[in-house]
Amino acid sequence: MSLSPAKRERRRRDIGARATAPSLEAPRRCTVLGCTNLTQRSAGTGLSTRHCKRHKEMLRRHGVTWRKSFTETELAPYRKSVRTWVRLNRGRPEFQEAITDLDSMLAASGKPKDAFAVQSARPKEKARIALARLREAGKGGEHLLTIVLTIKAITTDKGPRGNPEFQQVQIAKRAHRLIPRTRIKSDIWGDIAKRTRPEGLVMRILGEKLIEAAGGTATGEVIREVIALKNAGGAQ
Ligand SMILES: [Zn+2]
Repeated sequence: MSLSPAKRERRRRDIGARATAPSLEAPRRCTVLGCTNLTQRSAGTGLSTRHCKRHKEMLRRHGVTWRKSFTETELAPYRKSVRTWVRLNRGRPEFQEAITDLDSMLAASGKPKDAFAVQSARPKEKARIALARLREAGKGGEHLLTIVLTIKAITTDKGPRGNPEFQQVQIAKRAHRLIPRTRIKSDIWGDIAKRTRPEGLVMRILGEKLIEAAGGTATGEVIREVIALKNAGGAQ
């Protein structure tokens, strides 16, 4: 699934040339409200005809242009309520169904590859490897369902609402954090630990897969129950 080094180099150069070629159109401003920067295309810093470099980078890393990813402090009360909800609702058939679907997805994810080997893979393959590495790290359906419910609850409660891309990225980023770094020993560099970067298309694909598999449980009704628990003081 990966490109040969020569092809990758050609593609990199091609993108570089297109990104820095002078634009024939009149200079255009970034579409983010209040931003006066030129678009990447107009400034010759990239391909985007809608966003400036800074906002394109925000979008790539966080899923929206105007806010960063949720912090631990923001997520903690929602995660705590999700754990309480899971304890109280473990017997519900839709819960068991989501765990089965998520576990099956992990089981079908194939062979894991280390963080060094992942670099040259395409996004779809990277998402598959991320699932395989989660399984290898001993993470199961319940870990993943907790993440999906936590992100759905916080975005429903605090926003941004109706933004599937932000949800996908936030869910994938939390799952990605559960994947351990790849460690190698090198005679020259000593111990090196590498982690793949949690950004770009792979985060959208991974997030979408997790949401789909957890779908039966992560319903509006369940999310409202989680938020009610949080407002009642979270876990007992
Ligand atoms: Zn901008």
